[in-house]
Amino acid sequence: MERCIFCMIARGELEARKVLENDDVIAFDDIAPQAPVHTLIIPKVHYQSMESNLPLGSLAALFTAAREVARIKDIADSGYRVIVNNGRDANQTVQHLHVHVMGGKHMSHGMVNFED
Ligand code: 5GP
Ligand code: ZN
Repeated sequence: MERCIFCMIARGELEARKVLENDDVIAFDDIAPQAPVHTLIIPKVHYQSMESNLPLGSLAALFTAAREVARIKDIADSGYRVIVNNGRDANQTVQHLHVHVMGGKHMSHGMVNFED
């Protein structure tokens, strides 16, 4: 996708602090971190969301990369959250599927913040 910011990062046209890259995915630190560790993982191929029928191999690549990011960031033992904001109600703001890996600090139990 020409003007998708995450496609631009995948193509190397937009700078990002890269954490890992392989044939399927690229991981980079979030520009506005909401945790001491906040890394995003994207498939290199543009899929808008979980509803885009991406192949099982791509899903596996995202989750495998989440585990690798946790190891690289040294939060594998202390724990981390893996989050996908998918679609409008979840407030997905970038329309290229991405996985958040967040950790480095103890979090509260709840993970759902409704607006009303
Ligand atoms: P969403 O709400 O769609 O799940 O999350 C999008 C995330 O992408 C946000 O956490 C936001 O800070 C991050 N983000 C948006 N634009 C950029 C960018 O240009 N570079 C990086 N590294 N992160 C971005
Ligand atoms: Zn894209």
